[in-house]
Amino acid sequence: MPLPKAELHLHIEGTLEPELAFALAERNGVELPYADTEQLRRAYAFEDLQSFLNLYYELMAVLRTEQDFEDLANAYLERAAAQGVRHAEIFFDPQAHIARGVGMGTVVEGLWRALGRSEENHGVSTQLIMCFLRDESADSALETLEAAKPYLDRIVGVGLDSAEVGHPPVKFREVYEAAAALGLRRVAHAGEEGPPEYITEALDVLGVERVDHGLRCMEDPALVERLVRERVPLTLCPLSNVRLRAVDVLAEHPLPAMLDAGLLCTVNSDDPAYFGGYAGDNFDAVRSSLGLSEERLRELARNSFLASFLEHDEERRARYVAEVEAYEFS
Ligand SMILES: [Zn+2]
Repeated sequence: MPLPKAELHLHIEGTLEPELAFALAERNGVELPYADTEQLRRAYAFEDLQSFLNLYYELMAVLRTEQDFEDLANAYLERAAAQGVRHAEIFFDPQAHIARGVGMGTVVEGLWRALGRSEENHGVSTQLIMCFLRDESADSALETLEAAKPYLDRIVGVGLDSAEVGHPPVKFREVYEAAAALGLRRVAHAGEEGPPEYITEALDVLGVERVDHGLRCMEDPALVERLVRERVPLTLCPLSNVRLRAVDVLAEHPLPAMLDAGLLCTVNSDDPAYFGGYAGDNFDAVRSSLGLSEERLRELARNSFLASFLEHDEERRARYVAEVEAYEFS
């Protein structure tokens, strides 16, 4: 039995495996520029962020109907459950779908068809977080929030993702204020490839409660001290960091130093179909490459539940944490 954990940094579009991409392409009559799943799988061996993003957006063309989004989410939840995920807070990128004519309702209702039944079907509780693409305009983000208003009973919070450098958090001040006024929780990618100042800005200007990645906080000791003092969770994605060259090799990942510094770190999969593994694979990788002790792994799992947005159900959180404490490593 795998270590129980919550997944807090997972883009549902990044869970599209080649087999499902081909199945959906066939169902929807979409032509993919790959001969078969093997050739597509080889294309997943991209070299950098831009070639990843190109493939990522190209493959989204196969997602057209509610059924497609339901199938995508169910495929992820099944894999996540098998790797010990008990609770998942799932990102989605509405702008990437709206731009190609697939409406907010199709995306949210389709995902919800899987998420709403996830506990009975997969034993995984879920929340949905809507992300704004930071390389799109601030106005586009505001329009997206407006389009989401009929679906806010399905959405727990907002996030900020895609290409970071050149798109500082302050660009999205207005939409985050509007989201806060609607009672939405706030997170943002910051300090992955962007500088530590973006992390500070995400906290001070956007009011985020959790920082996605946040790796580069380690360049600023005063910031580390603040993140520790304020107990700000960081959602790290070790295998993603290697694939996108935020670190050269996993053995050099700063996770052990971050834990030693007292940071509230969690381990997540980001875009698992593309980055070489799901949540449990990331735990296995840091265990073997970084030599983390069982108590450190338990701490990471405990942190994932402490950092999750389960304030509406503290009983559930306590139950999950108790599962972590009782877990026996094999
Ligand atoms: Zn991400």
